[in-house]
Amino acid sequence: MKSGTIRGLGVSPGSAKAPLARLAPPVATASTDPTTEAPEAALGRIEWALGAVAAEMAERADRAGGVAAEILSTTSAMAADPSLLEAAGRQLRAGSPTGHAVTLAVAEFCAMLEAHGGYLAERVTDLRDIGARAVALLAGVPMPGIPAPGHPIVLTARDLSPADTATLPGSDVVALLTEEGGPTSHTAILAKSLGLPAVVGCPAAAELPDGVLVSVDGSTGEVRVGPDAMGGDRTGSTSRAPASSAVPAGPGRTRDAQPVALLSNVGTVADAHAAAATDSEGVGLFRTEFLFLGRRSQPTIDEQTEVYTDVLTAFRGRPVVVRTLDAGSDKPLPFLPLGQEENPALGVRGLRTATRYPEALADQLTSVAKAARSAGRSVRVMAPMVATAEEAERFVGTAREHGLDDVGVMIEVPAAALRAGELLDVVDFVSIGTNDLGQYTMAADRAAGALGHLLDPWQPALLDLVALVGAAGRARGKPVGVCGEAASDPLLAAVLVGLGATSLSMAPVSRPAVLAELRGLSAEDCAVIADAARSATGAQQARIRAREAREQRWSVPA
Ligand code: PEP
Ligand code: MG
Repeated sequence: MKSGTIRGLGVSPGSAKAPLARLAPPVATASTDPTTEAPEAALGRIEWALGAVAAEMAERADRAGGVAAEILSTTSAMAADPSLLEAAGRQLRAGSPTGHAVTLAVAEFCAMLEAHGGYLAERVTDLRDIGARAVALLAGVPMPGIPAPGHPIVLTARDLSPADTATLPGSDVVALLTEEGGPTSHTAILAKSLGLPAVVGCPAAAELPDGVLVSVDGSTGEVRVGPDAMGGDRTGSTSRAPASSAVPAGPGRTRDAQPVALLSNVGTVADAHAAAATDSEGVGLFRTEFLFLGRRSQPTIDEQTEVYTDVLTAFRGRPVVVRTLDAGSDKPLPFLPLGQEENPALGVRGLRTATRYPEALADQLTSVAKAARSAGRSVRVMAPMVATAEEAERFVGTAREHGLDDVGVMIEVPAAALRAGELLDVVDFVSIGTNDLGQYTMAADRAAGALGHLLDPWQPALLDLVALVGAAGRARGKPVGVCGEAASDPLLAAVLVGLGATSLSMAPVSRPAVLAELRGLSAEDCAVIADAARSATGAQQARIRAREAREQRWSVPA
């Protein structure tokens, strides 16, 4: 398709226009690949390919600043290291085809770095990247990873792994367009936190040619292509969704002054600093696994303590909820290998990884407690993917042994929602992760764009589970937060408050609109709107009924 309009799910507001560039997959090599080259000629080509990669990295280092420049210079030096070329030569002489000789040489060096551990082991990812780039050059196909043409691009891909998205800051990417991915996929969440307009679940993106001009609207999900993308803002420009007019400032509360803390979801120190500079009332979800996605070695206690101290200090006494590592499933952490699982979303993930790696949890809790002491602040911790009260109780016990006294769990599994009272009896607070609770309630993979209608957070079955948790919290006078994406939809936020949520946590970009909505509704209005939504038989009807109820009740805050 060279022109026209295609549609997907708009998941991160704002719009941007730029030529399309595709995330190229790495080229697989094998010992059985056909080869017609003599070893000397092959070695010459490998020398050329590694040299080209070294030059590209050096050039990127010149363009980047600070820490990124240092890392890129080191990567360039690794690509130019004569011993890497020598290792490839040995593999060629042993009979390997050209590309595979590079793969094997890189694997040999990676094993050496891993054996050293520490900082050197961390360079393994960069070395693999060098190998993948050299192999692509040798095969005459585009380099893998995020293209860096030196001008703005709209990045398209089947989907992005969390590791791909971690390299987005500082890249040329001004918007994302993926064939797969649901409204609560990690691609969507990260795009929102980076302020990049994004459209996911758009299978037609697969047909778009590289370089075609596209205009992406991350609010409506509309993507205009070719001549249809002309007009409007300049190419390469990005505009955020207009803030709703007359946005009130200050803390979250309903029109009748019931407090509802509006907190931030953060995944990096940069996110935390950006959120701390706003009216955000604290951090409701610190996704600590995002800090360590590319890591092959476990982060040390000192290293973790430094990051957590930084975030606690930035928030100057506002509450911060640190979630322990939610590893596994779509967020694999190389330093916590979980083996091959048939169905990883239902496998070992979140708190379950602590059974296999108890020291990783212990180190993290030690680090959080040390950070709280060194920042002179209090801190809350919570565990992801808890299914039973026993698991919750065990986590609370371990956290308290580490000196942490404000301990909660996430409600992401229907079993935990159904028995929320038992969990609340043993924890200090709960936080509902509607992204996972939605996926497990509807048995629909949250990364599957085609199942977007099931993953709609307005599904009445999901609202029923939230209502159970809210009622259990009210009965015990304990806090019930919501930190899934549902909290960032202003009208749904009102529903959640009506169902008993005492705080809502979201990407900071969503806070002003949620605040404005809640300020115009009383707590009782929220309950009426929630009842209207739950009386529906489907997500779309729930939305419509809630909207109708809201029309009758909302009034401009005094
Ligand atoms: C959730 O599942 O709703 C949640 C907040 O956790 P995550 O999105 O990180 O899985
Ligand atoms: Mg979750």
